[in-house]
Amino acid sequence: MASKMKGLAMLGFDTIGWIEKDIPKVGPTDALCKPLAISPCTSDVHTVWEHAIGERHDLILGHEASAEVVEVGNLVKDFKPGDKVIIPAITPDWEAVESQAGFSMHSGGMLNGWKFSNSKDGTFAEYFHVNQADGNLAHLPESISPVDAVMLSDMVPTGFHGADNAEVAYGDTVVVIGIGPVGLMAVAGSVLRGAGRVYAVGSRAKCQEVAQGYGATDLINYRNGDIVEQIMEAQHGKPVDKVIIAGGGVETFEQACKIIKPGGIISNINYLGTGDYIKIPRVEWGLGMGHIRIIGGLMPGGRKNMERLARVIEYGRLDVKPLLTHHYSKLEDLEQALLQMKDKTPDLIKPVVSLI
Ligand code: NAD
Ligand code: ZN
Repeated sequence: MASKMKGLAMLGFDTIGWIEKDIPKVGPTDALCKPLAISPCTSDVHTVWEHAIGERHDLILGHEASAEVVEVGNLVKDFKPGDKVIIPAITPDWEAVESQAGFSMHSGGMLNGWKFSNSKDGTFAEYFHVNQADGNLAHLPESISPVDAVMLSDMVPTGFHGADNAEVAYGDTVVVIGIGPVGLMAVAGSVLRGAGRVYAVGSRAKCQEVAQGYGATDLINYRNGDIVEQIMEAQHGKPVDKVIIAGGGVETFEQACKIIKPGGIISNINYLGTGDYIKIPRVEWGLGMGHIRIIGGLMPGGRKNMERLARVIEYGRLDVKPLLTHHYSKLEDLEQALLQMKDKTPDLIKPVVSLI
């Protein structure tokens, strides 16, 4: 095998480019993988063009892929070269105390389970390294194509995490603010958890159409005026049970507080790339006594979670194909796909690069 590989990297703030690096070495519990399909994420855009996590030099981007295992360390038990696998965007250290406490995404410190394209090279390369392969890889079921499987890296787990953290229950009225791919999966996850009425807040016709396909009952366009007014009018003044935030900026928390019932849950999965503070309106937050819970979460990674979500697709409960609007077929196309994610044409939900 060659010793060098190429990858699409953040060269510095606002700059991306192809670079050559050594193929990563595999430790005793690790795996080396080569991508079968890859997709860029809005988070890559926040990282490069909004400087959300600070400066990075020559860091290979990307954290969404399906892959084939090329090499494993001598302590890896359940995976071998040739296996087709799902790659979670978040790859925790499973022995960390945070993992033992149930917050593996923060293993070793806040957000530290997020390694690809943050603290180590990501998936936009000919090869990439996976730590703790037995805990972080999942076998890809034969009935799921590697292209569809890329949506299991981040979009499905994040959207479903939003619905899980909102504790969506049968008959709940749920508002999903932002219906890019993450918000669309929050709509789908809420519907699977039994939501009754589901408002999808978004402006693009394509996303609205897909949201309805996933079970949104009401569409609210934030470009047509204040969403608080629009939702409260449709609700005849009755506040909603749950709000999931998957788009917009720091102002969305204020909106969420103005439509949520006492005892409701506001679940954020949005990556807040800009702004110093989130404003919580005092009165609508029940003067601090409204039992309104606000939670924000990074998606959980890990094998168990990936296998659980894969079964949702495998047994026909969820079709991710409506998310995949733009298809490419060469590693080099990743650059265009990432720029497309940044510029978001009206018909774009997710671009995917298939290397099969
Ligand atoms: P996206 O940009 O495709 O979707 C967000 C949508 O919100 C866009 O269509 C945008 O037009 C819309 N929007 C903008 N302002 C709005 C407003 N005021 N009200 C309603 N909608 C508004 O992004 P995505 O890929 O769907 O990801 C959503 C967010 O989730 C991003 O910030 C991403 O970085 C983040 N993310 C978080 C995790 C996690 O683990 N929590 C994982 C992946 C992505
Ligand atoms: Zn992401």
